[in-house]
Amino acid sequence: MSRNFSQSHLVHKEPLSITISVGDGFKSIVWKAEYDMDFDTECLFCYSERITGYRVEDESGVAGKVAVCPQCEKVNAIYT
Ligand SMILES: [Zn+2]
Repeated sequence: MSRNFSQSHLVHKEPLSITISVGDGFKSIVWKAEYDMDFDTECLFCYSERITGYRVEDESGVAGKVAVCPQCEKVNAIYT
């Protein structure tokens, strides 16, 4: 059974245009970083067993969320 499901007005996939990517070093001084949540996830880049999520906003006001390792300060994920 298929639903006649018009997506045209539901698709609201804005590309995350914050200028940061996984593996980047995260400098909370540069970003307006606001603590969001902790993740019980191992860091992709070091031995740390916990990463921290921040809500960030860049100069042009584009907001996104990044999960950053507190040990090596690398971006592990970008989430929404
Ligand atoms: Zn790490």
